[in-house]
Amino acid sequence: MAYIALYRKWRPKTFRDLAGQEHISRTLSQAILSGKVGHAYLFSGPRGTGKTSTAKILAKALNCEQGPTPEPCGTCASCRRIDEGSSMDVLEIDAASNRGIDEIRDLRETVKFAPVDGRYKVYIIDEVHMLTTEAFNALLKTLEEPPVHVLFLLATTEAHKVPATIQSRCQRFDFRRITVEDIRKRLQFVADEMGFETDPEALSIIAVHADGGLRDALGILDQCSSVADGRVTKEGVQEILGLIGHEWIFRLTEALAARQSQEILGMLAELLRDGKDLRQILSELSLHLRSLMIYQAAGTVDRMDLYAEPQEILEKQGRLFSPEHIMAIIHRLHEAMNELKWSPQPRITVEVALLSLCREEGTAPSLQEGGMAPIRPAAEDARIARLEAKLAALMAGGKAEIPSGEPERTERPAARSAPQPQTLPPPPPAADSAEGMAVWKDVLERFRAAKKTPVLACVSQGTCIGMTETQFFLHFPGDVLASMTMRIYRKTVEDALEQLTGRPLQLVCSSEDVPPPSPRRPLKEKPKPFLEEEPRMKPDLASLTPEEQANVQKAVDILGDHFVPPPGDESAPPPPEDEAMH
Ligand SMILES: [Zn+2]
Repeated sequence: MAYIALYRKWRPKTFRDLAGQEHISRTLSQAILSGKVGHAYLFSGPRGTGKTSTAKILAKALNCEQGPTPEPCGTCASCRRIDEGSSMDVLEIDAASNRGIDEIRDLRETVKFAPVDGRYKVYIIDEVHMLTTEAFNALLKTLEEPPVHVLFLLATTEAHKVPATIQSRCQRFDFRRITVEDIRKRLQFVADEMGFETDPEALSIIAVHADGGLRDALGILDQCSSVADGRVTKEGVQEILGLIGHEWIFRLTEALAARQSQEILGMLAELLRDGKDLRQILSELSLHLRSLMIYQAAGTVDRMDLYAEPQEILEKQGRLFSPEHIMAIIHRLHEAMNELKWSPQPRITVEVALLSLCREEGTAPSLQEGGMAPIRPAAEDARIARLEAKLAALMAGGKAEIPSGEPERTERPAARSAPQPQTLPPPPPAADSAEGMAVWKDVLERFRAAKKTPVLACVSQGTCIGMTETQFFLHFPGDVLASMTMRIYRKTVEDALEQLTGRPLQLVCSSEDVPPPSPRRPLKEKPKPFLEEEPRMKPDLASLTPEEQANVQKAVDILGDHFVPPPGDESAPPPPEDEAMH
C-alpha cells in the first residue's frame, strides 16, 4: 500500500474535526446553512493551523451531492474527487510557484465557465501573499466582478503582505495558533485510531515542540511511530527531536545557581559528545527557566503551554534564583542563541555565555546585597583576549591567520553540533530549480520504492528550491522538519542525490520560520579573477626586509595582486548587520 503521511491521512474531513478553530467553523457552517456564502475569503494564520483543510472542507460542503451542507458526506463522487485533488471544479493554485502566476493569468478566462459537475467553482490560492503585483492585479479584476458560481479561498501566513485592495473584497478569518492541549488531544486521537502505543509524556513533548502547528505535530508523531514500529515513547521522541531532556537541564540549572563553571563546562562537553545541538541546549535551558519564572510569579505553570515539569523541581529550583536573576539569565541565553547564527565558533559562543552567567555582575542577590565585585579569573581574561583577537581577524577579512592554537573548523563534525538550517544563506541566483525539482522527485520516488517510511515522513515535506554543481537546496514549511532532516537524514539524502546525479552534493535546508540571513558579501564573493585593466599593486619590495617581503608574497599568493579598495570605500565589505556584539 502506498505510504500516506499521517497529516494527509488525518486531515480534518468536516468542520467539526478542525482543531482549535471553532470560531471559524461556526461562522462558515452558519453561512452554508443560511445560503449566505461570500465570494471570497481570506484565511490568515500560522502554518499548520488548518487553512487549506478548511478551504477543502468548504469546497466539499458546497459541492457535496448531499449538500450544500456543513457536514459533507465524504463518500459521494464529488467529495471523493475533492479529497483526491482531481475535481475539475476545485482548483488549487500555489502562488509561490511559477506555475501559480501563469494560472492566475489564465484565471480571468477560465473563471467565466460554469462548474463542470458541482455547484461552485472553487479557487484555492495558497500562500497568496507571494503573488506578483501583476498577478494581484489580474486577481483583483476578477474579485471585482465575480461570477455567481465562483468562490475564492485565499490562504496566507502573512496577511499584511496582501494588498488592501484584495483584502477589502474578502471576508477575513484569522486562524489561531492551536493550543498545546488541543494538539495533544488530536495526537492522542490519531494515535488511538492508528493503534499506536503511546506514553502521555511523549505526546505532550510533541505538542509543545510543534509550536501551534498541527501538521508539524503529526509529522513528528509519524516519524516516531515509524522508527519504533508503532511505539511512541518519551525517549523515542527526545531522540527524534534531538532534545536534551529534563534531567540534564535540571542539573545544568543547579550548576548555574551554584555558579559551578567547571561543572557546567563538563556537562556541555558531555552533551556535545552525545551529539546534542548547542542551540537546543540553550533553548531547553531557557524554556526551563521560563517555567521557573512563571512558577515564581503564579505558583503554577498550568495553562501556560509548557512542558510538564515536576512540581517539586519547580519549587526547589525556583528558590535558587531571584526573579531578576532568572530574567537576566534568560536574556543572556537568548543573546547567545542569536550570536550562534553568526558565530564561526559556536561552541565557544555557548561556553562564553554559560561562563558569563556564572559570574554575572549585579544579577545575583548575594552580589547586589554585598556589593562585592566578582573576581575574574586570569585564565578567562586570556581567553576573552584570544576571542577578541580572533573576532577582529575574522572581521578583517575572513582569511587572516587566527591567533589561537585551536583549529579553525572544530565545529564542523556532524556528530558534535548539528547544522542549523536557518543560518545558511539562500541559494545563489544561478541555482537551477527545474533540474533540482526533477532530481528531488526522483529522490522521493527512490525512498518510496525502498519503503523508507521514516525518511519520507520527514523529507517529503521539503521542496527543492535550487541546485548548483555542489549544493542542493531544500525549503521546509517549518524549522522542526528542516533541522530534523539535517540532523538525521542528511547522509541518506546526500547519498541518494549522489547516486542520481553522479556527483557529490551538499544538502542545504532552510525554513520559513527563520528567514535566511542576508548573505554577507565578503564571504560570498569569490576572489575576482585577475584582469589586465585592473590597477595592480606594485609593492616596492626592495625597501622591505626579507621577512616583510616574504609576508607580502604570502598575501599576494592568497589574495592576488589586484586592487583592493581601502576600508570606508563604498564597495568595501559592510560590517555584519544586527549582530549581537555589544
Ligand atoms: Zn459528498
